[in-house]
Amino acid sequence: MDEKRVYTLFSSSDGNCVYFANGKNEYLIDCGVSARSCENALNSLGSSLTNIKAVFVTHEHADHIRGLEMICKHFELPVYAPAASFGGIAACAPHAVRFLAPLEPETAVILEGAEVTPFATPHDSAASCGFRVDMDGVSFGIATDMGYVTKNTARALCGCGAVIIESNHDIEMLKNGDYPQNVKQRILGNHGHLSNDACAAFVPYLAQTGTSSLVLAHLSPRNNTPRAAFSASYTALAESGASVAAGFGEGDVRLAVAPACGACRAL
Ligand SMILES: [Zn+2]
Ligand SMILES: [Zn+2]
Repeated sequence: MDEKRVYTLFSSSDGNCVYFANGKNEYLIDCGVSARSCENALNSLGSSLTNIKAVFVTHEHADHIRGLEMICKHFELPVYAPAASFGGIAACAPHAVRFLAPLEPETAVILEGAEVTPFATPHDSAASCGFRVDMDGVSFGIATDMGYVTKNTARALCGCGAVIIESNHDIEMLKNGDYPQNVKQRILGNHGHLSNDACAAFVPYLAQTGTSSLVLAHLSPRNNTPRAAFSASYTALAESGASVAAGFGEGDVRLAVAPACGACRAL
């Protein structure tokens, strides 16, 4: 069977990009950094943008689509995104327009080596989704940019071997930080971002339903630290009875924090 690989390449409020591959079939989820940065990150894994067969977009915020314009200028490949995000994508990446294909929640896109199913997430964009990806019986999920974990999201991620999940901010750091009050309210709201505490409350469910690799993602560089994110989820997992390893090693669950810049393997 072909090797399956899933990596976060960039992960923070400054730019997000996930790479997944099933053998020679290679894909991206979001490209919120420059195409050059993305190419360099792919090179570090022995790949390249020329190998990418499609890009999936969660939503139209710049930290998810910044590199799309240059990618679509130089490569011919489908760009799957929620239809309501098309306008925002067109404004930032006009060359992407002719490649756009609409995603329907709960409707799988079936490609070579991967079945990609979007699910809606509550976020302050025109539309937003996470993905469950099935590759010959191996599954992973990604859910970031969401104010809270909906039942639908929990259902979609149930049984995924690996999950990339948002752990955006430490609530106290955000409340005491220097963001304007309206921005704080937006982030804390139901259509904002998932806090370390909300993430930690959810991860034991994932561990109990078959997830053995958890990657905490989309950390705020200003309102979080990798240590705070890790410690919140680690404690919740340990209290739920899961044995946790910080790396590929012994333990029921491997827990890692995706760096803002640099590859982090999820599967
Ligand atoms: Zn967003
Ligand atoms: Zn984002």
